[in-house]
Amino acid sequence: MPFRSAPVKLIENWFSERYSDNLQLSFRVKDQLLSVRTDFQRIDLFETYDFGKLLTIDGTVQLTEYDEHIYHEMITMMPFYAFGIKPESALVIGGGDGGTASGLLSLGFRNVTNVEIDSQVVEVSKKFFPDLSSAFKDSRCNLIIDDGIKYVRNISNKFDFVLVDSTDPEGPAEGLFSEEFYKSIHGALKPGGVAVTQSGSPLYQPKAIKLANSGMKKAFRNVYTYCCFIPTYPSGFWSFTMGSDSDLRFQSNERSGKYFNSEILHGALNLPQFVRDMIK
Ligand code: SAM
Repeated sequence: MPFRSAPVKLIENWFSERYSDNLQLSFRVKDQLLSVRTDFQRIDLFETYDFGKLLTIDGTVQLTEYDEHIYHEMITMMPFYAFGIKPESALVIGGGDGGTASGLLSLGFRNVTNVEIDSQVVEVSKKFFPDLSSAFKDSRCNLIIDDGIKYVRNISNKFDFVLVDSTDPEGPAEGLFSEEFYKSIHGALKPGGVAVTQSGSPLYQPKAIKLANSGMKKAFRNVYTYCCFIPTYPSGFWSFTMGSDSDLRFQSNERSGKYFNSEILHGALNLPQFVRDMIK
C-alpha cells in the first residue's frame, strides 16, 4: 500500500484523498476556499458538508474541524499524563495549524516554541482556524519559521517535551522520521524529557510506524506506540510513538478532553497483535 500522495482534483465537487490505485476517501465539498503552492508544498482548503473546513497539504488530509480534537488531544495529553511531564517548556516541530501549541498552552505550559517550515500554513490557519491557531497570538508561544531538522540540531538540554506534528515521511518531512533526528531531539530534551511523533496508520502506512519505532529506540530507553481513531485519516486507525529515558508514571489527576480520558490514557497503549509484531 503506497503512502498518501495524489494531486488535488475536484470531481463534481468531491475532494478525494487517494490512498492507492484502488482506494480513496471522498468528501463532498460546498466550496474550495483556497489553493496555494508554496516553496514547500501545495495547500488547499475546502468547506465540506459534514466535517466543516478541511485543510489538505499535497492532497492529504491534515485536519478537519469535526475531528481535529482527537489528533491534538492524543499528541499532547497522552504523553503529558502518561509520563507526568512538567508543564514548563515544550517544542513543537511542524504543527503549523497551531492545534498542538494551543493544546499545550491549555495544559498550562509556560513556554512553547513552535518551529514550522512553511509560513503559509500558519497564515492560512490564522485566517481560517482562529481558535485552533490561538497559540500564535499568545506571548507564551514563540513561533519560528525554519526547518525543524536544522533547528533541533543546535539545541541542547532545553525542553521538557518535544512534539513532532509532521506531515507524512515525504518531502520536507522525510528527515523527521530519521534516527539522526530522534537523536537530536534526545539532545534537545532535558534529562528524562519526553518526545512524541505522529507515526501514521499502522494499516496503510507501515513505513511511518516502523521508522518512528526503530529510530526512537536508538535514541531513548523507553519507546511506546499508542493508537486512536481519527475518521478522516487513512484507515481511521492512527498511531503515535513516544520515547523517553524516564519510565511511565501515569498521573492520576488527568483532565478529560472530548476524546481523551483516563480509560484512553491506559487503554490506548494496548495494541492489536499485528501492530505489536510490526514494531518489535
Ligand atoms: N496533523 C497533521 C497530520 O498528521 O496530517 C499534521 C499537521 S501539520 C499541518 C504538519 C506540518 O509539518 C505542515 O505544516 C508542514 O509544513 C510541517 N513540516 C513538514 N516538514 C517540516 C520540517 N522539516 N520542519 C518543520 N515543519 C515541517
